[in-house]
Amino acid sequence: MAFDIEMIKKVYARYPERIEAARKAVGRPLTLTEKILYAHLSEGAASQAYSRGVSYVDFQPDRVAMQDATAQMALLQFMQAGKSQVAVPSTVHCDHLIQAEVGAEKDLTKAKDKNKEVYDFLASVSNKYGLGFWKPGAGIIHQVVLENYAFPGGMMIGTDSHTPNAGGLGMVAIGVGGADACDVMAGLPWELKFPKLIGVKLTGKLSGWTSAKDVILKVAGILTVKGGTGAIVEYFGDGAKSLSATGKGTICNMGAEIGATTSIFGYDEKSAAYLASTERADVAELANGIAEHLTGDDEVYANPATYFDEVIEINLSELEPHVNGPFTPDLAWPISKFAAAVKENGWPAKLEVGLIGSCTNSSYEDISRAASLAQQAVDKKLVAKSEYTITPGSEQVRFTVDRDGFLDTFGQMGGVVLANACGPCIGQWARHGAEKQEKNSIITSFNRNFAKRADGNPNTHSFVASPEIVTALAIAGDLTFNPMTDSLINEDGVSVKLDEPSGLELPTKGFAVEDAGYQQPAEDGSNVSVVVSPTSDRLQLLDSFKPWEGTDLKGLKLLIKAKGKCTTDHISMAGPWLRFRGHLDNISNNMLIGAVNAYTDATNSVKNQLTGTYGEVPATQRDYKANGIGSIVVGDENYGEGSSREHAAMEPRFLGVRAILVKSFARIHETNLKKQGMLGLTFANPADYDLVQEDDSIDIIGLTTFAPGKQLQVVLNHADGSVDTIQVNHTYNEGQIEWFKAGSALNLIKAKA
Ligand code: SF4
Repeated sequence: MAFDIEMIKKVYARYPERIEAARKAVGRPLTLTEKILYAHLSEGAASQAYSRGVSYVDFQPDRVAMQDATAQMALLQFMQAGKSQVAVPSTVHCDHLIQAEVGAEKDLTKAKDKNKEVYDFLASVSNKYGLGFWKPGAGIIHQVVLENYAFPGGMMIGTDSHTPNAGGLGMVAIGVGGADACDVMAGLPWELKFPKLIGVKLTGKLSGWTSAKDVILKVAGILTVKGGTGAIVEYFGDGAKSLSATGKGTICNMGAEIGATTSIFGYDEKSAAYLASTERADVAELANGIAEHLTGDDEVYANPATYFDEVIEINLSELEPHVNGPFTPDLAWPISKFAAAVKENGWPAKLEVGLIGSCTNSSYEDISRAASLAQQAVDKKLVAKSEYTITPGSEQVRFTVDRDGFLDTFGQMGGVVLANACGPCIGQWARHGAEKQEKNSIITSFNRNFAKRADGNPNTHSFVASPEIVTALAIAGDLTFNPMTDSLINEDGVSVKLDEPSGLELPTKGFAVEDAGYQQPAEDGSNVSVVVSPTSDRLQLLDSFKPWEGTDLKGLKLLIKAKGKCTTDHISMAGPWLRFRGHLDNISNNMLIGAVNAYTDATNSVKNQLTGTYGEVPATQRDYKANGIGSIVVGDENYGEGSSREHAAMEPRFLGVRAILVKSFARIHETNLKKQGMLGLTFANPADYDLVQEDDSIDIIGLTTFAPGKQLQVVLNHADGSVDTIQVNHTYNEGQIEWFKAGSALNLIKAKA
């Protein structure tokens, strides 16, 4: 069921030739990252020396994975592409929509009922188009991918920012928006700016209380939340080889917290052991056959400063357990300094809840080590002072750790096992008492700890640590407790100390599962029908956007001139709007509601030029649309930064905005606009932003000769009769101009299908 061994054979077959060509092209030894990237150049991309951080390159990923919140729009788009099957192996994972409230069984039953139509939709689309479908309860996307699909030297994209988790098994795995996933599933190449490379040399060996989590908590402290932007982080050295494959997965997972494109470890004995224990000894055998290509060249690791853009070295033997936070994952505290930081900063020392698991830390190793502490609590008559929850990453892990008695141990300590799903990690947590808004502390083994993320309370101080440290602190109920040095008083009034945690990287009896929750797609899905109720408020089939009418665009109304930061959150908010991610019409009611009107400094209030009154942005745009009038959005610098969600481009397109004219774009958003057939333009002279007036009627001239590198003209017809004509730039290449003319990239794919 799980992986496609023939696909892996094909990928490995092209490795030797491609690596040799790459070595010749760049004229020096190669890092692992470069080997994988060059081995995945798309057919049309030449093996040449690409400039890191500069060149845009087309790649050919081997797989696509999607989680349920983002898969909806990705698949709605794919359905429009006119393909009968996905071009590469792809999977859907139902993990984000399950709310944690009382415990696994009841929460899962409730979620299945509440999200039935979304699950039914995802299941039927998967069945029809050949995608593997992982049902609600099967587990969290990244853990399921690691257990079943990740393979050394592979390349995948996933519609979730923690897709890099698969780097633990040596895969270049990158988080993308749904439009990118749609393209790759439709057989198109995938474009990425050739990344910069950060090398992290690990020496020594972990011991005692320290775990793999502490490596990334330390790295986050060094590089900060922006330090990895545009880079792939490659780990190497003897220390790297000593880490379990799942520990490596944890480190790669949290590379997202430093903004890295992805993170990766080379193939080694630990990878082979994990593959074998997850019933993929045949993949390990294939990997052994090309092992020299599944790690960086010796010379690279001998002189890393010559080959990486930045190098960090960490000695695992000296590494202390860390606690990072609150409110940001890069505020790193070695445990020996954490208690003082808690006191000095006035953070609530009383720990309310400890939460372990999630896609980041729910391996057998994590659970067994945390359980060893829970067992000690029971044996030493310590009653856990905090609430304690366990979120298994997959049904396979849950079943196995249950079989081996760990869940029972947690239960004895008062722990509650939640569903195999994201739950509290994505704010799907009906935390009792959360509505009180009081200042309080929680600690998790998850990856993100932004304000409000877990329970919506801005006063919840959320810290991140290893499952071992979370468990110890939950037993103590106190953030200032250092299990390495401090003692606790037990039920008998006796002072006791916790011993170092112990566990196993892999289960001695092997993994087991009764029903992993996987649904194989139909061999021939042509007769499978996908049902979307026309009255649904959560799902809506997409209609093709109209092609360009073949003329210049005249008489566009200014919808909004946005001032300052305008991220994808300002353009298409998340939170309660998550519910409408599969319904373009409904989610369009959040279009630009967070953008600041440059004329009034107000949000979600713009002048309707037809009535002269101020109204909400979506309603105003709907009025223009109803009257057959196009509009234009004007913005400031780095417009559309933030997430890669395509809704931020689809909503204006859907509501009839014809162009976005800004000082500069965030690149992914600019590409998303192009893909949706929208005009994304930049002021040739950024100061011309000031010429745009609130009552302007705007023309875009030059579209009939639209060509790469050729400026267009924008005519600002002011209300007083005066006119300003300005030059605007664009970055459309020939192919992207065809997207614009066709109405969207999808329309073009469809026309060629
Ligand atoms: Fe994202 Fe958290 Fe779910 Fe992992 S567990 S996929 S980080 S929401």
